[in-house]
Amino acid sequence: MSEQQHYEFFKVIQDYVDQASKIANLPPHVTSILSQPKNELIVHFPVRMDNGETRMFKGYRIQHNNVLGPYKGGMRYHETVTLDDLKALAAMMTWKCALMEIPFGGGKGGVKMNPRELSSNELMRVTRRFTHALGSNIGPEYDIPAPDVGTNAQVMAWMMDTYMNTVGHVEKNAQKRVVTGKSLACGGSRGREKATAQGLIHCITEWADEKNFKLEGKTAIIQGFGNVGGNTGLLLSKLGVSTIAVGDHSGYLSNPEGFNSHKLADHVKQHGSIAGYEAGHSITREEFFATKADLFLPAALENQVGIAEAKMLQVRMVGEGANGPCTPEGEKILLQRGIDILPDVLANSGGVTVSYYEWVQNKRSETWDLEEVDTKLEIAMKRGYHRTSTYAREHSCSMRVAAYALALQNIAAAYAERDIFP
Ligand code: NAD
Repeated sequence: MSEQQHYEFFKVIQDYVDQASKIANLPPHVTSILSQPKNELIVHFPVRMDNGETRMFKGYRIQHNNVLGPYKGGMRYHETVTLDDLKALAAMMTWKCALMEIPFGGGKGGVKMNPRELSSNELMRVTRRFTHALGSNIGPEYDIPAPDVGTNAQVMAWMMDTYMNTVGHVEKNAQKRVVTGKSLACGGSRGREKATAQGLIHCITEWADEKNFKLEGKTAIIQGFGNVGGNTGLLLSKLGVSTIAVGDHSGYLSNPEGFNSHKLADHVKQHGSIAGYEAGHSITREEFFATKADLFLPAALENQVGIAEAKMLQVRMVGEGANGPCTPEGEKILLQRGIDILPDVLANSGGVTVSYYEWVQNKRSETWDLEEVDTKLEIAMKRGYHRTSTYAREHSCSMRVAAYALALQNIAAAYAERDIFP
């Protein structure tokens, strides 16, 4: 499905909420509270570009729900960013944190632009002006951004630094946890960079165990080779799964022998995309989706697997590293064809889980070993997987609806006791 086609992402998420609400027997007032974000912020701000001209930018921050804790969610820098997409992504953060029993709510934000067209200095000035424009609408106990598509640890460092310098507070160091996904030097957590991919891998191995599916010697195709896709490729190779086709914004590549994920990730770091990587031949998007493999790991954008792609895919399982990669129509076809789906809300929740660990470490002025982070993440992901899988079996519903239902139940329990103010 082409990204240009109109896609009402927030409505899609709401339809899943409606399905899950019925199964979980949710009180109607909770469903209706959750049907809109609490706050939708839009800011416009000027930035001086390297050529001396001034350009206006549009930034967003959506705060969906904070009944379980501070708003939490990524900042996206992409030319296709829209209010509707960010509303959907913010809502999904609410479900993700509730499902994983993390004391955070849901938020999402971003700036509509192509970060690849900007110099590093311009990107820094955009980030600083955007953070300044948001002002005290973000904060370490209120709303905590993290990296998403087009942003990284460097962007988080600029955001943290701007916040610390502009929001008056005596204990400046206590403000570090205003963002997560920082570099280690800036107070980040060991294991955060690979956390989303690592969480996805735990879901894949649990799924494989459940299905008696031996992963070693199997093949995968990965769409998106950034933070989530690149790290997934690296971790899959450790399990003996070879990645035989990849794609990103620059195009698609095939290598039936299997890519060297380390070399490909290095190439992407150096050149910004998979384009020009020698050990692979160029294929079309259609050829990518039709590649016969065992696993498909979407790790790029939403709305990628519609009816056409779902009919083309020749895999046993789709593990959603990305948020919302399958449309409802696409999902229906995949499930009818017996292709399992590990849904985004569960499958990519490793990122926010380790973001929470980072926030806790900052709050306590602690630095945990990688082993400690990895062990905690593994326990959390396995628990999340089995709760979802068991619920799906017991209620004869999809893994996605099960994940939503479990999340909604946790949120409804909080509303039941707190009730509505005043
Ligand atoms: P990233 O910017 O590091 O990588 C994004 C990848 O998508 C790049 O390889 C890019 O080339 C590719 N891409 C962009 N436009 C594309 C297009 N039109 N067609 C094909 N590929 C395209 O971002 P990321 O952090 O890896 O995020 C990827 C997905 O994972 C997003 O859906 C994001 O919301 C989700 N996610 C990320 C995290 C995290 O911790 N970073 C956590 C949970 C979910």
